[in-house]
Amino acid sequence: MTVNIGIMFSYRHAFHAGNHADVLKHTVLLAILRHLLQKEAALMVLDTHAGAGLYRLDGDYAATSGEAGHGYLQLIAALKSVVAEGLAPALKDYIELVASFNSKDSHKVYPGSPFIIQRLLRERDKLKVFEIHPTDAKTLSANIAQLEAGRQVAVLREDGFEGLKKFLPPPARRALVLCDPSYEIKTDYARVVATVADALTRFATGTYAIWYPIIPRPEAHDVPRKLKTLADKAGKPWLNASLTVKSSKLTSDEAGEVIRPGLPASGMFIINPPHTLKAALQPALAQMAKILGQDQNAAFALESGG
Ligand code: SAM
Repeated sequence: MTVNIGIMFSYRHAFHAGNHADVLKHTVLLAILRHLLQKEAALMVLDTHAGAGLYRLDGDYAATSGEAGHGYLQLIAALKSVVAEGLAPALKDYIELVASFNSKDSHKVYPGSPFIIQRLLRERDKLKVFEIHPTDAKTLSANIAQLEAGRQVAVLREDGFEGLKKFLPPPARRALVLCDPSYEIKTDYARVVATVADALTRFATGTYAIWYPIIPRPEAHDVPRKLKTLADKAGKPWLNASLTVKSSKLTSDEAGEVIRPGLPASGMFIINPPHTLKAALQPALAQMAKILGQDQNAAFALESGG
């Protein structure tokens, strides 16, 4: 397949690091890994859209967007008020993991998915990360090199949708695939579904975690719907976790200029989820919606099947 990568180079995850979508995605990712790593057998983790790996929350990108202020940093600010009711274990785990990348009470660094994953891996586990943006791939390689993880982590500067294929099925027959595109190119929506369909034919027992935006676009609505159909047809269980922080409606300012709401909601669709995942996420998602909610539309949903 020929891939037109020309227009995606404007997406930089550094603007979005630590936002509400990252809170959802990384809490779910962590909860999945905790479960999968309880088994002795080696695990291969494949991160098809890795980003730069580490982000500065006090840097120019994050400061410009202020998105972490409505995500991870807002959770931190709310900690005192939720202590009384108790933090949900999966959310506590996530906050502590992110905090472990920082010195005490400083929240300057936010770890992306490759670093969250690598932090948990055992010597026998492997991580393959794909990143196609030249600058982010270079930063990612440099950040990963600092870990001195040797052959445990491989950075592949190539298309993650295509690159995934050569690693499935994994030698040890245990794998987690995180698929987290930027969806900047409209074809990403269809490619996600095609990639998961292909991956299930190669390795039906793998755990697949797919992040998707919930926005008023038909192709975005299609992602969870089509993934459900794929999982059902393959006879595999699935879990769909979503977090809404605000209305998706356009508003206007005093001058009549249209104000776009930014990302109002997102979801994580998991095929072959750990059987403990739904129960672990329920209280964590409820707290996320409560703390990160920006208007009366704030909500979460957890739906499962198979
Ligand atoms: N997974 C990361 C995390 O959780 O920290 C964030 C990834 S970000 C949402 C998506 C990344 O995918 C961007 O850095 C973008 O450059 C990269 N990308 C876009 N298309 C790609 C492709 N076809 N293959 C690999 N990487 C791609």
